[in-house]
Amino acid sequence: MPQYYVWTIGCQMNKAESERLASLFEQRGYQATATAEQADLIVLNGCVVRQSAENRITNKLNNLKVLKKARPGLTLAVTGCLVDSNIEQLKQDFPYVDHFFKPGDYPYWLETTEGTQALPQHPPPSFYVPIMQGCDNFCTYCIVPYRRGRERSRPLAVISDEVRELVRRGVREVTLLGQNVDSYGHDLPDKPDLADLLTELNAIDDLARLRFLTNHPKDMSTRLIETIARLDKVCEQLNLPVQSGSNDILQAMRRGYTVEHYRQLITELRSKIPGLALSTDIIVGFPSESAEQFQQTFNLLSELRFDAVHVACYSPRAETIAARELEDNVSATEKKRRLDIIEQQQESIATEINGQLLGTAVEVLVEGKNKGKWQSRTRSGKLVFFSGNSHHLGQLVNIRIEKTSPWSLQGRLETGKSN
Ligand code: SAH
Ligand code: SF4
Repeated sequence: MPQYYVWTIGCQMNKAESERLASLFEQRGYQATATAEQADLIVLNGCVVRQSAENRITNKLNNLKVLKKARPGLTLAVTGCLVDSNIEQLKQDFPYVDHFFKPGDYPYWLETTEGTQALPQHPPPSFYVPIMQGCDNFCTYCIVPYRRGRERSRPLAVISDEVRELVRRGVREVTLLGQNVDSYGHDLPDKPDLADLLTELNAIDDLARLRFLTNHPKDMSTRLIETIARLDKVCEQLNLPVQSGSNDILQAMRRGYTVEHYRQLITELRSKIPGLALSTDIIVGFPSESAEQFQQTFNLLSELRFDAVHVACYSPRAETIAARELEDNVSATEKKRRLDIIEQQQESIATEINGQLLGTAVEVLVEGKNKGKWQSRTRSGKLVFFSGNSHHLGQLVNIRIEKTSPWSLQGRLETGKSN
């Protein structure tokens, strides 16, 4: 039996695409291997949002060159944001790679009559479903629109059929993915929006939970917020990247909103969706970010108190407006210092927020086993570990929280499970 290996680096979109590739290979009789060395087919699925990620892919490709030389029968394929209209250039740079294909595209060398959205026979209880590709926003630092192209929404009926099929195969929770899910559907003939899609999916029997990411503060509507509040399966968890607490920096990033607008949005969300867990993304050291502008970001995070903050040092990406027009003039040391400050601040905020859950009972969906314990998640997206010998995979159970940390929770199973 031929063996395959998929190496993934990047965001949920990359992971979702890799899961689909893996299921396609399995349908064609391939078997997964633990290491690239044993595989007959190796796929690298890589993100290039930051230079460091691109470097990791290039290093990996250089290592694989040795393997390919030793075993010319090996098939080597590359996908992800690294691959766009530059395929000819990539072929020249990496002549030993057999196939380059764009993210989300079908691995064209596998002969088949099936569509691109092959689903696994045995999906995990919690599954990612892309609802759109690409992005139209052109934030000045971001390479995504160049690499993944303009926004293309998948038709509502196609997504709905796919989720129904996933649920039939055992999926209990679905996370809808897109670079800006708040603009879902504007390119479709009858212009459905995310609220319509959530309403349709919420009606699927046996589906327990719905999540979605990423939201964009400039496009999040009151209609959507009220829909989230109304639908029972939509979880109280949102990722709403603010990127900076300085209006000047937000403008230089071309994010299309102000700090004041963002703050109002958070107030509206928290008043209409009780128990909402919020996370955000921050870039530190954007060109010309002063100590004072950084302080504004710090202050905004102290004020809004997120459950999680994903922070990155600004990384200039060739082609983007910021890389072409703005000098990368905050030193690497200073960027790292700012990143550490935000991470420390967030650690203490998350310690307090999670600490409030101590002694409470939470409903979790069990996702799998991890180091001998069951790994599960609350509706608010927090990781919970617990022990138990019976079979709990895919079940909703109640857990009494006994220990908390900024990153996860631990607890014990309450008798009388939810379902
Ligand atoms: N579409 C989403 C996420 C895009 S990429 C959004 O609009 O927020 C995920 C995160 O990577 C971004 O939120 C941003 O914080 C970070 N990122 C993107 N480009 C970057 C760059 N050039 N340097 C550093 N971080 C970057
Ligand atoms: Fe990049 Fe901005 Fe699009 Fe997000 S919204 S993918 S940050 S261009």
